[in-house]
Amino acid sequence: MAINWTEAQIEEIVASVMKSLTKEAPATKGEYDGAGYNGKKYIGVYTDMKDAIDAAESGYKAIRAMSLEQREKVIDIIRDLCRKEASTMASLGVSETKMGRVDHKTAKHMLVADKTPGTADIQAQVKTGDYGLTLTEMAPFGVVGSITPSTNPSETVICNSIGMIAAGNGVVFNPHPNAIATSNYAVDLINRASQLAGGPRVLVSSVVKPTLDTADIMYKDPRIRLLVCTGGPGVVKSVLSSGKKAIGAGAGNPPVIVDDTADIRKAGKDIIDGCTFDNNLPCIAEKEVFAFNSVATELIDAMKENGAYLINSEQASKLASIVLVEKTNPKTGIKSKIVNRDCVGRDAKVLLEKIGITVCDKIRCIICETDFNHDFVQHELMMPILPVVRVKDIDEAIDLAVKAEHGNRHTAHMHSKNIDNLTRFARAVETTIFVKNAPSYAGIGFGGEGHTTFTIAGPTGEGLTSAKSFTRKRRCVLSESFRII
Ligand code: NAD
Repeated sequence: MAINWTEAQIEEIVASVMKSLTKEAPATKGEYDGAGYNGKKYIGVYTDMKDAIDAAESGYKAIRAMSLEQREKVIDIIRDLCRKEASTMASLGVSETKMGRVDHKTAKHMLVADKTPGTADIQAQVKTGDYGLTLTEMAPFGVVGSITPSTNPSETVICNSIGMIAAGNGVVFNPHPNAIATSNYAVDLINRASQLAGGPRVLVSSVVKPTLDTADIMYKDPRIRLLVCTGGPGVVKSVLSSGKKAIGAGAGNPPVIVDDTADIRKAGKDIIDGCTFDNNLPCIAEKEVFAFNSVATELIDAMKENGAYLINSEQASKLASIVLVEKTNPKTGIKSKIVNRDCVGRDAKVLLEKIGITVCDKIRCIICETDFNHDFVQHELMMPILPVVRVKDIDEAIDLAVKAEHGNRHTAHMHSKNIDNLTRFARAVETTIFVKNAPSYAGIGFGGEGHTTFTIAGPTGEGLTSAKSFTRKRRCVLSESFRII
């Protein structure tokens, strides 16, 4: 069905197209960059953040003018293009960020296309009584400023866009500096979908060179009514200190408990499948295992049968000195360890080569037995490296797993058939996602029930975000009428 614009709307859209055409950045020829690819420039990507916010504001006005059916038409085409271009975005993501795996990133885009809720997620509420009827509607915020990560760059842009557009918002993105071409490819895809649906040329926008300064302009612009941030602790803290309504989706360090009632063969396979998904980049992926001593050896064997390579403690120390680097805080002089960005999301084979071990392509994960204090347990590595800590019983398992999660309240996993143990751990760890007897990705709807998202907002409580997370409630009261009983 074609979108029927009024004359005034058409005039406004033409004016905004003319304005945006002159301000969008030209693409560099022959290669991917933040402004375009292969000589074709991205639509909706600006040199100046102020221009990007202007464009997102025009996009917001255009969305406000659309019916729900028209919004859903744009979203349908976004889903369609996301499926068709999944492998292109996956390859671009891997080549730009040097992280992750093309096959898994392709699957992540398919998941976003299939399981990100659209307008059906927005449900009004009604209360009737002696005084009439009160309607609560889920209204848009206006223009949303979204900060996106390098680990799921185009996935997050598309997933956020579907939810934010379904809710009736405009969006301006400040993508991760290490994933600009991939993130802005997704911005361009959304705008192509809008045009194909008969909507405006620029529905969502971004900048060619996102920096902390462009993020700051976004924070301070009064037209930005909601900030949504997907990333590590630094950036989540910065949006929460902005003085604006903010949704923060932050870091995790998901522990896995395996007790003596679990199906150990299945647990070994599920844990390796989850841990190696996109080379452990998803924030929900298994990061450390606490296994009952009585089943740990069998579990490690099951992991080895499923592509894990067991290293000894000396090799683990050597690897830790490479994948983590020491950083000194210039203000306090305090030293701490941070992950070596050159190792994040790399294949297990590549990481093993760094400590002089050559393996075949079947090896997809590095496992090692460690104690609780080992760096591999304490740091969110986002690499296919999985420490296994032996525990004597459920008390010790829960105690250590909760500590290893560091209070992020993000995600935890457990393999068990003992409902008391499962319940105790779920209660103690208080995470947004708790997956039982399955790979971690079941928690975001991949082989598990429920919708998907790549913005899991633990700190601010929205949980697995969807369109309704990007709305504000508005009440409309009709007194003494419309109660028909
Ligand atoms: P990151 O924290 O390095 O960057 C995220 C974004 O924030 C980038 O666009 C970056 O440029 C920007 N940024 C960083 N500091 C900033 C500041 N002070 N002000 C403004 N912008 C700032 O994230 P990353 O390495 O790409 O992603 C990995 C991290 O994100 C992990 O900790 C992971 O657990 C987390 N993550 C969480 C979710 C979730 O849904 N909860 C999803 C994906 C990633």
